[in-house]
Amino acid sequence: MEYVILMKDDFGGFISRLAKLQKLAAPVSKGYNNFSFQEVSSGDEVALKYIPTIIPPKKFFMPRQETLLEFNTAKGLEVKPVVEHEKITLFGVHTCDLAGIQCINMVFSIRPRDYNYLIRKRKIDIIGLECNEYCDEYASCCLVSSHLPSGGYDLFLTDLGDYFIAHVNTQVGEDIVESIKYFKSAEASNLEELKSLRERKRALFKNEVPIEPRLIPEMFDRAFESGVWKDLEERCLACGNCTNVCPTCYCFDIIDETDMDLKTGRRYRNWDSCQLEPFAKVAGGESFRKERSARQRHRYYRKFRYPVSKFARFFCTGCGRCSRACMAKINLKETLNSLLNDRYASKPFINDEI
Ligand code: SF4
Ligand code: SF4
Repeated sequence: MEYVILMKDDFGGFISRLAKLQKLAAPVSKGYNNFSFQEVSSGDEVALKYIPTIIPPKKFFMPRQETLLEFNTAKGLEVKPVVEHEKITLFGVHTCDLAGIQCINMVFSIRPRDYNYLIRKRKIDIIGLECNEYCDEYASCCLVSSHLPSGGYDLFLTDLGDYFIAHVNTQVGEDIVESIKYFKSAEASNLEELKSLRERKRALFKNEVPIEPRLIPEMFDRAFESGVWKDLEERCLACGNCTNVCPTCYCFDIIDETDMDLKTGRRYRNWDSCQLEPFAKVAGGESFRKERSARQRHRYYRKFRYPVSKFARFFCTGCGRCSRACMAKINLKETLNSLLNDRYASKPFINDEI
């Protein structure tokens, strides 16, 4: 069973049954073209057409605040590890966010492994949903090849008019299809329709920044001293919105907190942001990325240069959230274009393959 179909008339029943199997979260409209992944129990609550949610689904994999251990020093030091998790299905995850989850999976799977993350990840089932067209002008998913599905889901739905075609990718996906009962096997004509949709998408989704993706790391190699970072310094408010909403930003701060009895307490972690001034402060009060230009540069290099060396992939999924959320209107596509055209980079970049 590789492809199955679900009639649109059965969508409400599908969601209701899915929600009965275990907790279900899906994109929900919050008004003013804002969306959020939230618990749902019926199909009416689900926004099938949505632009990327304010916070990406990473919040289910690494909560904004998470207790790691509890301690008690009353009789020597007693330490109890804490792993908070629950079984949940995420419905409607777009391909850019599937790519984001794949990125943080890689980060937390390398040694030293992060078991809090990995145990929680095992409890989360993922049902993807294809974007048939661009969300809005901020997206740059084609540049980083995240506009088409490339794994990272249990089941993946594509809207083909009166029905969805679903790719069954894992045993979990097969179990969902079997227990929900609304699905039928796909026929050759359904697969033809899927093929035509993908062809239309290939024509519609065009590289959003005029550079061959494989040349991006080289562009960054030449851009360390670029004046573009100074320009961003003058505009950036150092609020940290761009990193909080980014599906691949995973930095956290660890805090030990003691209760009033001065014996018991807990260690927890909070999301942190490289855009905040204290992030790079070390003992003695020195900060090695004091200027906002250095912090902005670091953010971009963490998306387009460093992970290419470490993980052989970009850590930008082209979701556009950082640009949508920036009060200073710092726009990722514009920054990439500025770097491409920067004549003051340490070595001029010749993008002669376009
Ligand atoms: S959201 Fe904009 S203003 Fe805020 S830290 Fe990021 S780039 Fe700077
Ligand atoms: S850098 Fe911006 S566009 Fe890229 S994944 Fe993060 S939030 Fe999305």
